[in-house]
Amino acid sequence: MNVILLGAPGSGKGTEAKRLSALTGMKHISTGDIFRAEIAAKTPLGLEAESYISKGNLVPDSVTLNMVKTRLASEKSGLLFDGFPRSLAQAEGLDAWFRETGRKVDAVVFLDVPDEKIIDRLVYRRTCASCGKIYNLKTLPPRKEGVCDSCGGELRQRADDREDVIRQRLEAYRRLTQPLVEYYRKAGVFYSVDGSGTPEQVEAAVAALPGIEKAR
Ligand code: ADP
Ligand code: ZN
Repeated sequence: MNVILLGAPGSGKGTEAKRLSALTGMKHISTGDIFRAEIAAKTPLGLEAESYISKGNLVPDSVTLNMVKTRLASEKSGLLFDGFPRSLAQAEGLDAWFRETGRKVDAVVFLDVPDEKIIDRLVYRRTCASCGKIYNLKTLPPRKEGVCDSCGGELRQRADDREDVIRQRLEAYRRLTQPLVEYYRKAGVFYSVDGSGTPEQVEAAVAALPGIEKAR
């Protein structure tokens, strides 16, 4: 089973992908997390990606597609994509590659969140530098300021969660990613869920969709 989580920046793709991966056993693939790891390790790919990410633009399609294909070449488990595909070219590239390798996209889950919620979620988002757990200073604060409840790691703000960069990311989303809604609707695998509730509520809505199989 291969599932794509689709939605604006801040719609909760990362939060829900972690929960759904634990629930179903699918492997969580976050292209954003992969790029951030490459940036932290100062690899050539990381340096190239950073020049786009820091401005709120998408990393070029060919770079992103090659990275995904290389990383997943020998992966046998079901995949849960978070932040990929993010453009028509990436969606077509994924389809072509899945056809070649005998796989398919089983469901595309759109996390629907109103614009005004999105900005708050991004501006107040903090992430644990050690375990990746996601907090929000307004709606989901840590027990102790700046410290992860789960592992004691340091909470940091992502470099691209600044208001000017957020605006550019939302613009890129509307222009390049939103057309995927129609693309996957036509393919007959599209589901929309209300993404404005708590992480638990959204998880329950996604888990109840036909075709989302619980591993336990
Ligand atoms: P968000 O969904 O909150 O914007 P992500 O962590 O998914 O956060 O992505 C952060 C940034 O990484 C994006 O703004 C973009 O620059 C880059 N990126 C992530 N995934 C892709 C992708 N599939 N194609 C191109 N760029 C990507
Ligand atoms: Zn942590």
